[in-house]
Amino acid sequence: MKFTDLGLPESLIRALEKSGYEEPTPVQQATIPVIQEGGDVMATSQTGTGKTAGFVLPMLERLAQTQDKNHKVRALIITPTRELAAQVHASIEKYGCYTELKSTVVFGGVNINPQKKILRQGVGILVATPGRLLDLHGQKAVDLRQVEYFVLDEADRMLDMGFIHDIRRVCDLIPKKRQTLMFSATFSPDIRSLAKAMLFKPEEVDMAPRNSTIDLVEQVVHPVDKKQKSDLLAYLIGSQQWQQVIVFSRTKHGANKLVKQLDKAGINAAAIHGNKSQGARTKALQQFKDGKLTALVATDIAARGIDIRSLGHVVNYDLPNVPEDYVHRIGRTGRAGSTGDAVSLVCADEIKQLRDIERLIRRDIPRLEIEGFEPEHQLPVGKTKAPDGRSSNQGSNSRGSSGRRGNNRSQGNDRSQGERADANGNQRSRPNRQRSRNRRRPARATA
Ligand code: AMP
Repeated sequence: MKFTDLGLPESLIRALEKSGYEEPTPVQQATIPVIQEGGDVMATSQTGTGKTAGFVLPMLERLAQTQDKNHKVRALIITPTRELAAQVHASIEKYGCYTELKSTVVFGGVNINPQKKILRQGVGILVATPGRLLDLHGQKAVDLRQVEYFVLDEADRMLDMGFIHDIRRVCDLIPKKRQTLMFSATFSPDIRSLAKAMLFKPEEVDMAPRNSTIDLVEQVVHPVDKKQKSDLLAYLIGSQQWQQVIVFSRTKHGANKLVKQLDKAGINAAAIHGNKSQGARTKALQQFKDGKLTALVATDIAARGIDIRSLGHVVNYDLPNVPEDYVHRIGRTGRAGSTGDAVSLVCADEIKQLRDIERLIRRDIPRLEIEGFEPEHQLPVGKTKAPDGRSSNQGSNSRGSSGRRGNNRSQGNDRSQGERADANGNQRSRPNRQRSRNRRRPARATA
């Protein structure tokens, strides 16, 4: 299928050609016609599959058709994080560059006055985080009574306890008669029914098995004691010559501490989390995107939606308490058809989180101990039962002595040379001279 088959106008086709897109992705093929026909959508799609264009393109098409394009806010897109809001807005500008539609983005943590000024001048499309949107509305800086399109990006997060009250307030400010579009990589059963209550006869687009992780991402658990985690991370970055890695930490304090530890090991790192000023967050993300940082250490604030092209590695320094966050985190890699790997450094007291994640994604993540970092406290091997009762044990992973992993999907239970299993069934990478020399000595990053 081509974009022209979707009946999109020439102005959008030109912008898509300029972006180098050749054909619509599956989620775009599924959602664009429904939105063009005026239907509500509830789409579950793996991250990095082109969801944003899936709602932005038909919206731009319809909005560009009318005369009064920019006086009133006619499309409102809400996202959970400032970074995602900025990214969605950048996509709107990219896809709408040959239209006359005006758009802006508003979020907290920065001066509200410039945002008020732009809104006063009139915009047709507004991307916002909920708190700042409500502030602006409270100050009569924005009128939402003409909204025709209401989009919740990362909808499951928008509807959970942290945001639901704000979302309900926003819903009271926009017309009841509107098109509502919800997109997310995951929907828990509770959130799914809550979402449905806010939609009118939605078309459910399910591009992925529920809560699945992307096939293009290889996943592995390195069992390790807590006190060894930062050394192991530095060792992995250096010995495997990772050019760029996003590292997820459960806490803000932990993220700051890890940045210092990586700095000491000679690895260029910065943290991004809710206690950092918006300026610092934007700068760190930009430096990372520009390749000036080797490691971006983030709390779950950066787990959702952030698109970093060709990011090969994601590390879970701590496992998240909410298993769905794992799916979002590892979705930072394996985007737009490229491959990536997701490495989780797991200590014995995280076994519950690991089990919850494995239950959610319906597979065991292969364990691989790294020579020199074997934990004193062992991690039991997984035996995940899917909710339907099937055992989904994926078997062992394999990794050659060079430290590179094979394809666990095709190799199944094969053990390549250089692997051995301990009594718990954990794989252990075989020592080689290079590695022995490096034992407990974090390598320097090469980026
Ligand atoms: P998203 O899931 O919206 O964050 O998009 C993930 C990545 O895919 C972004 O870098 C987009 O620019 C890119 N993308 C979106 N649609 C297409 C397409 N039809 N062809 C190629 N790349 C695309």
